[in-house]
Amino acid sequence: MSVIYRDANADLSLLMDKQIAILGYGNIGRPIALNLRDSAFPVLIGNREDAYATQAYHDGFEVAAVADAVQRSNVIMLLLPDEVATQVYHQDIAPHLQQSDMLVFASGYNVAFGFIEPPPFVDVVLVAPQTVGQAVREGYVAGEGFPSFVAVGQDASGEAWPRVLAVAKALGALNQGAIEITFKMEAELDLFTQQALMPAIHSVIHSAIEVLSREGFPPEALFTSLYLSRELSYIAAKWADVGVLPSMKMHSLTSQYGTLSRIERFKEVKLDRQMEAVLGAIRAGDFAQEWATECADGYPRLESLWRRLQNMAIWRDEQRVLDMLRQNDRADS
Ligand code: NDP
Repeated sequence: MSVIYRDANADLSLLMDKQIAILGYGNIGRPIALNLRDSAFPVLIGNREDAYATQAYHDGFEVAAVADAVQRSNVIMLLLPDEVATQVYHQDIAPHLQQSDMLVFASGYNVAFGFIEPPPFVDVVLVAPQTVGQAVREGYVAGEGFPSFVAVGQDASGEAWPRVLAVAKALGALNQGAIEITFKMEAELDLFTQQALMPAIHSVIHSAIEVLSREGFPPEALFTSLYLSRELSYIAAKWADVGVLPSMKMHSLTSQYGTLSRIERFKEVKLDRQMEAVLGAIRAGDFAQEWATECADGYPRLESLWRRLQNMAIWRDEQRVLDMLRQNDRADS
């Protein structure tokens, strides 16, 4: 079983007199900066002078160049997209790290796959929210927190655990309990969700649309029945609230019987093998190498994959249905 850390396990006084740098003011950087400031900790934003910096000024923060922010801070939070963090780290962060600094990541990716290897004299820790940035802010403001993982990758000070827990508490990550993990496991789980669970769900939905279309169901009805009604997202929310089986009991007996009696038909051995292969490639670092090459080449495959999907008739039908339903919304209001 994993250790779960809660607010009572953390001592905020360990952050007293520490300057915190938030490098990157995007989806996750902005909510974390706002949460830390509301917890009464001094926050300095490290960013280039552009739209993100303008937003940070507008929110009342001091903004400095990344290298300057690192030099002036003891707790340095890297909240840049994984694919650019390596270059920024080598250029603007590594040369300015000092003894007993703490480097805080929100994703295990770059450390787990060896793209960033911090020097031995800094603590290297992880506070990884398991939700989107907006929920990180909303959860903090509501006093409810949000699900997160915490890890220590390198304990130079001998105090990395109490220090990461203090940071996690200050930004609201312990309110719901943060699960102890390793950098490697966090990165692998994240990639597995993206590369096995999401494609499998995508493929199932795609098949359902194709079958119903071929059988003559009108697009408005089939898209609404499958997911535009939000019944599917409501059910998924209930899985998180009460668990998969208890949530099934909230449906009619016809629905329960129909689902339970057909589950086995969709249980394919091939799916398990495919997921094992995806996980194997992630763990071996093959995906990380593939993605590094793709980034260095300017994303040619990502762009061609997008083009292929966008040209599919079913997704154009879906957009037409959405436009039509929105028109009805406007007419009603
Ligand atoms: P964003 O794309 O929103 O980050 C944008 C920020 O990165 C901006 O401040 C931008 O500033 C800066 N940035 C982008 N490119 C560069 C560059 N080349 N040099 C310097 N700065 C750059 O990323 P996210 O917030 O989504 O993700 C950040 C990290 O947090 C990732 O590790 C991600 O895995 C993790 N995470 C994200 C979550 C989310 O909800 N999005 C949830 C949990 C973890 P500018 O371009 O102006 O310089």
